[in-house]
Parts: sequence; structure tokens; C-alpha cells
Amino acid sequence: MSLKPNDWIRPEIQNLSAYHVPPAEGLIKLDAMENPYTWPDALLDEWLLRLKTTSVNRYPDPAGTQLRNRLQETMCIPQGQGILLGNGSDELIQIIAMAVSGKGRVVMAPQPSFVMYQMIAKFVGMRFESVPLRAVDFSLDMNAMLSAIEQWYPAVIFLAYPNNPTGNHWDRSDIEQILEAAPGLVVVDEAYAPFAADSFMSSLGRYPNLLVMRTLSKLGLAGLRLGYLCGPQDWLAEFDKVRMPYNINTLTQVSADMALAHAGVFQEQAEDIKLGRVQLLADLQALPGIEVFPSDANFILFRVPVGKAGAVHRALMDSGILIKLLSGSDPMLVDCLRVTVGAPAENQAFMTVLRRIFSGG
Ligand SMILES: *Cc1c(COP(=O)(O)O)cnc(C)c1O
Repeated sequence: MSLKPNDWIRPEIQNLSAYHVPPAEGLIKLDAMENPYTWPDALLDEWLLRLKTTSVNRYPDPAGTQLRNRLQETMCIPQGQGILLGNGSDELIQIIAMAVSGKGRVVMAPQPSFVMYQMIAKFVGMRFESVPLRAVDFSLDMNAMLSAIEQWYPAVIFLAYPNNPTGNHWDRSDIEQILEAAPGLVVVDEAYAPFAADSFMSSLGRYPNLLVMRTLSKLGLAGLRLGYLCGPQDWLAEFDKVRMPYNINTLTQVSADMALAHAGVFQEQAEDIKLGRVQLLADLQALPGIEVFPSDANFILFRVPVGKAGAVHRALMDSGILIKLLSGSDPMLVDCLRVTVGAPAENQAFMTVLRRIFSGG
């Protein structure tokens, strides 16, 4: 008798594919919404000093108290609201899902949106129900959202604000209506807050079911893996029970705390990226045959002529530029690709190749 994975691995896990990260060595990397800028020398020197006096023979502070205080100051988290730290916001999604999972329990999100909501729902054995966005402009289809809420009674609804991969942010009043109608939690995922014009952070405390989730990844610290969940203390106290005690390692706690003491450096980088976004939007719009969608994030979604997305993606790759191919991932994203706003020289390199592809040269 031979024992096989499919004797024991749950069918819904067997049916998943692992989150795919394409190799990027030697490429201009515009596929994962990373900040293209590294740290100024003065910060690097201070960092080395901090690390020199940091010891890793002891476990980390399980609560990350100093870092949470720093976040409270720098990220305008309202007084009285709790903060829970995660190993990336991916881990926070997992913590929330683990805490509410159970037979018949539903995770809901609009579609297309961030793929981890669905994946993590499956990991923890929950049902995932999605509601298509309106194809014209990727706005929320409120009639469909409200009837889905009634039909599925979701334990938690994830709303990415701005949305990945579409780049737009939904109507604030639509989200407020969802907050009123939802029988369970509503997590507003503000991964792109550094580039966005609006936020629900200051609305915390006004709704008993509102949580605001953020990450330092898109701000420029993707390698540290730090996400934070803000909201009512009574909810966070429950989530804290399923959090691994030392989920934020010492190097991340020390490094993120130091980086946030210089938050201005990263905010300036974000401003540069926003300027780059304006330029890149204009450059893409000037290319005939390309449909460009508005963005409030550090990436731009665009659509190429029918059937060409795969070839465009490959041609860019052959010229040393990696972006994200979305065509095929969702009916609404047919012929679509997503490019991260990089440093000006990277954006120019991308545009140069794209112009060449579209002039047939
Ligand atoms: C990138 C992204 C995240 C994940 O961020 P990490 O903190 O790096 O895990 C979460 N939500 C959305 C919408 C994202 O695009």
C-alpha cells in the first residue's frame, strides 16, 4: 500500500496552485508594487548602529510594543483604537480568517480583487463568495453587493481601497453603505494608502465592524514583512489569540521602528512615485490602441488590443522588463496587464520597449 498526498490533503488544497512568484533576476522589476528606491546613506549608517546593539539570542517582544507605539504616532491611528501586527498583511488576513472560520462561514470580496482573500479562505476551510465589479469602470455593483450580503451573511468582507489589481478606489459612500448592511466584519485593506487620496483610518470608532488593514510593503519595506490591523480593541483581543506569539521578528521590529522614525524619507519617495504615476499614465494614454485605467495606487492597469497581452508581456520580458500579466486570471481582466510605477529611468525603459512593440519595430 502506498500512501499518497491525495489520501489526506484536503481536496480544496489540492485544487489550489501555490502563489506564483516569477524569477526576476537581472530584470527591471515592475510586477509587484515595490518601492524602487533604497535608503539614503545616513539611514543605512543609523541602521547598522541599531543592528549592532540588537541581540537575537532572545525571543522578540511578543507584543511589538515600541513598534506599535511608533505606528500609532506616525500613521494617525485614532486614540483608543487597537493595533495588531502581522508578518505582512497576508498574515493578518489569515489571522482574521482563522478566528472566524467554521462550518458554512463565508468570506466575501468583490472580484477582481486581491487574490489572497480567496486563497486564505480556502486554506482555513471557509467558503469564498465574490461579487463581480461593474465592467465599465470597476466600481462596486451595489445592488449585487447588498443582495450578496443578504444571501451569504458573510462573516467578513474584504474591500481593498484602492483595489488591486484595478487601481481605482471605490465610492466612499458605497463602502459606508456596506459597513451599515454587513452582519459581520468589514476589513478595508489600505495597502496602497501611501499613494491614495482617501482613507478610512479616521472613521475607526464610528462603526463596530470596521477594521483598517495596512502594510509597510508598498511604502518601501516589503522585505521586512510588516502589516498592521487597526480597529476596536475587543475584536483585536480575539484575533490576538490566534496570532503566533513571536510573529514579528526582532530584526523587523527594530528596523521598522527606526525607519518610521524617518517616515518623511518614505513619504517623499511615495510623492516621487505619485509624480511618476502621472507621467506614466500620460505616456500610456498617448499610445494608440491602449486603454488605461485611472489609478490611486503605485501601479497602472492597462488593456492592449484583443489577444495581444501574452505577446506584449513576453516581448517586455525579452527586453528585460517584468510586469504582471492579468489576462486570463479573470474574465473582466481580458487583455489586461499591470505595471508598477518604478523610478523614472525604469518607467522610461518600460515605455521605450512598449512603444517599439506597438510601432511594430
Ligand atoms: C500587496 C497587497 C497586500 C499584501 O501586503 P503584505 O503586507 O506584503 O503581505 C495586501 N493587500 C493588497 C490589496 C495588496 O495589494
